[in-house]
Amino acid sequence: MSSTESGIPAASTETAEDCEECGRETVHAVTVELRAENPDSTFSREPYRVSECTVCETETTTRMNDV
Ligand SMILES: [Zn+2]
Repeated sequence: MSSTESGIPAASTETAEDCEECGRETVHAVTVELRAENPDSTFSREPYRVSECTVCETETTTRMNDV
């Protein structure tokens, strides 16, 4: 199956990552969202990687284009 980029966040992917709250490696639900940094410009949307711990529900957001 080929994935199509329609702008709609794809279904979350489950992956094992370290969780600071849990203090151990837990299963996280990872999604990618496009978020506008500047409300005045709808063209400056940046992809963010949102990782939510399935144990404590802590959400970690990482800007993907961080340089
Ligand atoms: Zn956790």
